[in-house]
This record gives sequence, structure tokens and C-alpha cells, in this order.
Amino acid sequence: MPLRGRIAPTPTGLLHVGHARTFALAADRASGAGLVLRIEDLDGPRCRPDSTAAAIDDLRWLGLAWTEGPDCGGPFAPYVQSERATWFLEVWRRLEAAGVIYPSPHSRRDVEEAAVAPHDNHEAVGGIAAAPIVADEPIFPVSLRPTHRERATAPGGVPWRFRVPDGRTIEFHDALQGTVTRTAGEHFGDFVVWRRDDLAAYELAVVADDHSMQIEEVVRGADLLTSTARQILLYEALGWPPPAWCHAPLVCDAMGRRLAKRAGGLAIRDLRAAGWTPAEVLVRPLPA
Ligand code: GLU
Repeated sequence: MPLRGRIAPTPTGLLHVGHARTFALAADRASGAGLVLRIEDLDGPRCRPDSTAAAIDDLRWLGLAWTEGPDCGGPFAPYVQSERATWFLEVWRRLEAAGVIYPSPHSRRDVEEAAVAPHDNHEAVGGIAAAPIVADEPIFPVSLRPTHRERATAPGGVPWRFRVPDGRTIEFHDALQGTVTRTAGEHFGDFVVWRRDDLAAYELAVVADDHSMQIEEVVRGADLLTSTARQILLYEALGWPPPAWCHAPLVCDAMGRRLAKRAGGLAIRDLRAAGWTPAEVLVRPLPA
């Protein structure tokens, strides 16, 4: 059964073939149920209007048809995160009122110096050692948590973090990955929901938007599996039902390298210029 979905590019550069394949999967799974295009441009100066225009052009060329969002020809307002600050602030207020977030002035360097080495999970599945879960950021040390709670009416130019329930394992079903588990305090720690530059951080913005846009299934790359565990905690704290999840395997080139790690990232633009068709961009094995 198709579920209402979304594609959510971050316009920091050209979209690559991995984005194309994940977005095509999202469009396919949402077919007939509604597909939102949302531009995730909160990453300050790194996000550029010409990258947004290029992304929309590449998505159109691939034949993806969204029913809501920028340039869809319909009656809906564009979904651009930099225009949604009021809603994100409202979600920050709800989290503050629930007592689950706290201001944390520590710099990235403080955190890295005091961080706990991530737990290496070599859990055996059916007798075969599973790949270790690689933490996507240093685990925030519990020693840097504040010992008492002060109420605030505005974030006030300081990063805010969500306090995770140490030791609790978050389990969710993924349409492609099966049962996925992540343990708070082992695979991820207290995470940023509000940034020093007074913008919503990724985890807050994405949950706020997926909820308000009534997204039924989130389709994205498997590099965000640990973020999904964080986001489930946010849904719980806000009293909102989470969507279904589907994380696509990351696309690799013929050398087995992830596209994000390649020097030349195999941009859709470049493949177009080299004469590839949209169908080839979506399925053809990639050169080294
Ligand atoms: N904007 C993110 C990206 O381009 C995707 C976030 C998401 O799908 O939740 O990687």
C-alpha cells in the first residue's frame, strides 16, 4: 500500500546518483498517496539558492513528480525549512516544557575531548557476526550534563540538547533493513536540537516537519539509521505517532567506495552531461 512520503534534499551542492536512487525509491513507495518536496536549507551559508534550483531541475529530469512543495504547479506553499522558524520554535517550546532538553554551551572541542568511545556492537545474528554499528558522532559525555533544570522562554543563542534515556534500547521496524536497534548512551548520546546560531538542528526540524506534513513513511539513506532512533525519542516526547521507516542501502561505486567519500561525487549533472538516461542513472552500475 503506498504511503504519503517526502523527498528532502539539502542544497549544499549538486545531488549525486545516491540521492537520485533514494528519491526514486521514495517516489515509488509514495505513488498515489502524495509526495512532498521539502528543501532542508538550515545549514546556513553552505546552502545556496542555485543548488536548490539545480536540485529541482535534476529531480524533474529524473521524472520524479512531487504533489506538494516548490515548483509543483499546485496550490501549496513551498516547503523550505528556512521559512519555518516559527514552527520549529514552537516545537522547541514544547520540548522545553516537557523537561527533556537543556542548554549546553560546550563547544564541539569540549565534547570531543571528554567523549566516551562509541560502543562497538558486534552482535551475532544467526551465528554470523553483524557489521559493527558505527556511531555517527562522538557520544556526548554524561559528565557535561547540567545537574539542575532552569526554565527558559527562548533558546537564547546557546545549543540545546535532548537528554537521552541511558541504556534504553530503541527498536524499530524498517521496510528494507528489518528490525533495527540502537541503545541510548552506547550508540548515540544527548543530541543537539537547537543550534548556537539560533536555528533548529536537523533532528528537531525533520521531526517537526514530517509530523506537520503528515508524512506516513520516511524513505532515506541508511546513513541516518541512528538518527531515526533519536527521532523516535523526539516523537515520544512530543506525544506524536512516528511514521513508518525505510532506509535505502548506500550506493557504492565499482571500487566499493561510498559516494560521499569519493573525490568526484558522481553528480547527476555530470552523468546527464555524459549522456546517461534517467533510467541509467537509477540502475546502471557505477564506474570506479
Ligand atoms: N536532508 C537530508 C539529506 O539530504 C535528508 C534528511 C532526511 O531524509 O531525513 O541527507
